[in-house]
Amino acid sequence: QSGSPNSVRLVFLGAAGVGKSALIHRFLHDRFELKYTRTVEELHVLEYDMAGSGKMRLEILDTSGSYSFPAMRELCIRHSDAFALVYAVDDPGSFEEVRRLRDEILELRGGKSAPITVVGSKADLTEAEGRELLTSNVMAIVEGEWDANFVEASARTGGNTGGVFRALLQQVNLPHRLS
Ligand code: GDP
Ligand code: MG
Repeated sequence: QSGSPNSVRLVFLGAAGVGKSALIHRFLHDRFELKYTRTVEELHVLEYDMAGSGKMRLEILDTSGSYSFPAMRELCIRHSDAFALVYAVDDPGSFEEVRRLRDEILELRGGKSAPITVVGSKADLTEAEGRELLTSNVMAIVEGEWDANFVEASARTGGNTGGVFRALLQQVNLPHRLS
């Protein structure tokens, strides 16, 4: 887990191009841009006032998915308080990546469950615009089989991006951490 008791680290993982940076950017700056720079990883740090728990240091790790060293990836998985596993609703392959990531997280953390929120990104897309993954189908897997949190959101419209972070923070064991 991430260092000091009142600091919380959220790690965003998922295939390239699913909209991880866009979601984080929307949360931090309430803006949407068409292109985000591809960095290896970017750590955003902010002071966040959590209702009921007061101020905390919130760390948001935006990954690119391409780690040159497996050890880096392992470190990032071990040092996280909650995971956002992001896929795009128009990209079935990106949901398969979410499956792989979940397996990897469970294996590394040695448990049957982990603080995982699966995020269906680009929820603004209609079937005519390319949506292939239906909300109810994914929900059945994520909530029904995995017992993880599930949210859909759109960084483009801003729809439910707050819900992504609420779901993530809900999974962090705050009372225990805020000693
Ligand atoms: P990342 O590689 O996961 O960080 O993905 P980005 O955040 O860079 O997003 C990749 C591209 O997907 C962006 O350049 C946008 O054009 C598009 N995109 C991101 N979020 C959305 C969204 O909510 N709706 C739609 N329609 N497109 C999005
Ligand atoms: Mg990115």
